[in-house]
Amino acid sequence: LYITHIAVEMAPIAKVGGLGDVVTALSRAVQEHGHHAEIILPRYDFLLSSPLLQGITFEAEMDWGGCKNFVTTCVVEGVRVFFIEPSNGMFKVGQVYSQPHDDEVKFEFFCKAALEFLLQTGRQPDIIHCHDWSSASAARAYWQDYHHYGLWKPKVVFTIHNLEFGAAAIGDAAMNAQKFTTVSPSYAFEVGGHPAVEPHSAKFSGIINGIDTDIWDPLYDQFLPTPYSAENAEEGKRDAKKALRERLGLRQDRDCPVVGVVSRLTTQKGIHLIKHAAYRTLDRGGQFVLLGSAPDPKIQADFDELAGQLGGDMGAFCYAYDEPLSHLIYAGCDVILVPSMFEPCGLTQMIAMRYGSVPVVRQTGGLRDTVFDVDHDKARAAWEIHGSDDHTKAGMDGTNGFSFEGTDEGSLDYALNRAIDCWYNDIAFFRQLQSRNMTQDWSWNKPALDYIELYYSAIKG
Ligand code: ADP
Repeated sequence: LYITHIAVEMAPIAKVGGLGDVVTALSRAVQEHGHHAEIILPRYDFLLSSPLLQGITFEAEMDWGGCKNFVTTCVVEGVRVFFIEPSNGMFKVGQVYSQPHDDEVKFEFFCKAALEFLLQTGRQPDIIHCHDWSSASAARAYWQDYHHYGLWKPKVVFTIHNLEFGAAAIGDAAMNAQKFTTVSPSYAFEVGGHPAVEPHSAKFSGIINGIDTDIWDPLYDQFLPTPYSAENAEEGKRDAKKALRERLGLRQDRDCPVVGVVSRLTTQKGIHLIKHAAYRTLDRGGQFVLLGSAPDPKIQADFDELAGQLGGDMGAFCYAYDEPLSHLIYAGCDVILVPSMFEPCGLTQMIAMRYGSVPVVRQTGGLRDTVFDVDHDKARAAWEIHGSDDHTKAGMDGTNGFSFEGTDEGSLDYALNRAIDCWYNDIAFFRQLQSRNMTQDWSWNKPALDYIELYYSAIKG
């Protein structure tokens, strides 16, 4: 198979959130199964300073859209990437997203230029894979303007990473795609009745994301003081906890659980619950660490107030996008909290488990599909993780965390308190859970096979 992703994000060179991770990791995983994947991306101005863009070469020049468009290329993380750079300066921007209207204009231009590039250079992908509203116009424009070009007949797959934005554009794109997916079965169920989705339900399905286990591997993580795997997790995590405390000015002399959050700070992520968890954790004698990127100044101001009250040697509040620090948090914390109001898939809980941390999550979307409560989900976990319908058999316990359902603070307390109690009162079980989490497979192995099957069924029609 030959798959071309048209996307506006890709990790690690132009990543804002999970979409960027998925585009890169899915491409790599599909290639590992012997197929060819490539990515078309805008050549943002900020890419110029990326040390990861080595050996860029010229690929094509097109007169299109009232200007010249230069296409350059290089390999990033093992995947061939084409960068579109129009001479009208449309992508001379310092970040991927800016004002919604400007974004609509620039991404529509990008999508059409990407199709034009494929056509003009005679490329014949089997699949054009589009992602979210930002590349929705590629699906639409393809069927309106391009699919009648001779033998040029790629099929279109469209994936929703988040239906909160651009639902109308997504509905339009779905109309023009052979297959329509989202990033977890539970989120597919939750949005199934949405007007952008419902008319296309016959071709709609959910495939859970994986994490890139090369990038997220505590045994080869350059940001950790001691490499570790499930065998020496206790030592590796102890050293990471020490380094994390040192870096954030937290006291070292307390034998207490550390609860961490790594998140964009938007209402989707459960801001009120994150704040409450900070209070509750400190109240229970634990330490709380937040790494949050806050695009909204009002939310930032709220958190500044919280940091004023709780920051110090028991609580650390960092407002930045900081990849190295995120690695240290995943490794150095005992518990990682993901209290999202909705979560199409969520990667943080899976990364946390890979690093031997215990997730505390709200049961929604992909969080529901990946985190199984130690007290409530034994049967579901045995089935999902081990493919067994008998969870009472030895070795069939696949539970891996703590979860709650409601959106209020009491609901969160129910799960967080159990995690903290477990750390204080039954550390042997807590450690067992940590090692178990490290051995569960949240890689792209299985999801990549699901996508390959989906690509084939899109081709068959
Ligand atoms: P979303 O795509 O909604 O932001 P996901 O859980 O799917 O949420 O993906 C979030 C990704 O972004 C993870 O890889 C996480 O580690 C990373 N991330 C989020 N916020 C930060 C931050 N402030 N600093 C570093 N990495 C972050």
